[in-house]
Amino acid sequence: MAPGRNLRTRPRQSGFDIGIDLGGTNIKIGLVDGAGRVKARRILLTRAGAGPTQALARAGAAIADLRKRRRVASVGIGIAGLVDHVAGIVRVPPNLPGWNGTPVKQTLQRLTGLPVFCTNDANAVALGEWRHGAGRGCRHLVCVTLGTGVGGGIIANGRLLIGANGAAGEIGHTAIFADGLPCLCGHNGCVERYVGTRYVEDRARKRVRAQLKRLKDHKNQTSLFPGMKTEGPSRMFELTNGDPARITMREVGRAARAGDRLALALVEEIGDYLGTALANAVELLDPERIIIGGGVSGIGRPLLKAVRKSVLRRTQALPGRKLDIVFSELGVDAGIIGASRLRTILDSGF
Ligand SMILES: [Zn+2]
Repeated sequence: MAPGRNLRTRPRQSGFDIGIDLGGTNIKIGLVDGAGRVKARRILLTRAGAGPTQALARAGAAIADLRKRRRVASVGIGIAGLVDHVAGIVRVPPNLPGWNGTPVKQTLQRLTGLPVFCTNDANAVALGEWRHGAGRGCRHLVCVTLGTGVGGGIIANGRLLIGANGAAGEIGHTAIFADGLPCLCGHNGCVERYVGTRYVEDRARKRVRAQLKRLKDHKNQTSLFPGMKTEGPSRMFELTNGDPARITMREVGRAARAGDRLALALVEEIGDYLGTALANAVELLDPERIIIGGGVSGIGRPLLKAVRKSVLRRTQALPGRKLDIVFSELGVDAGIIGASRLRTILDSGF
């Protein structure tokens, strides 16, 4: 076979990196190629309460398994907590009790013999979307992840913004009400307290119950006037077979997409709260794109519409402002793909 042909049929292998997304529940580990494709993966339970030593040891074993017969250049890890990017130490992680001060970088380097790079989990998501997802080609980007917590990552002037304490991008704990409801972080009025999964689900359940009570009262009255029209209960009620306690974000999303009034009003509200926090980010950072990811984004189009409306209403009207608001493209893989790219940005310092 001619050498030229051999080169065409067997493209040069650019090597792989390992990306890890370490959360309070799971440790997701991926073998990622140079084009940001996850070629193999392992998902482990974190067992956070059992401490970091056992979790990192199991992660090390999974990495050894993924590396077999492959050329791996580095390990990158995104951790749910405040991360010292230079020392690779995690500080006060809210969902990893007992992990404060864990030398993640040093431990994984010892276990794997590879260079290890650490960041916060939401920064890893932003990095993944920027390099290989919905933020490709942007130089100014804000990425927000909506789940139980609300995380954020910022790309400014074509660089991941880390901050003086490694804590940049914490959009979930920016206040949207000066004297609002108490947040788990100890402050009041944080956007996370209004759009975090558990709070939205709680409001959905309360409102469906209140609606059922209204309908019942109304029925008692209209029985006196048989011709009077009555509205049916929310689709969220039907989707849970009549048990409002079982309403989750999934039912809120499904009902909203089907045009259910109660669910749409709730989504409008989430969009307005989130849009308020994002409008503040727009005024501060002037991003060209905002990417919304995480479980809550599964609500889909009605949420995007509500967020766009709120941001537009709350930001200065620049003529021809360049700004799109879109959903994540990489979904649940964004964290591992982004973590696998840390070598390329942190190797030369930041
Ligand atoms: Zn907070």
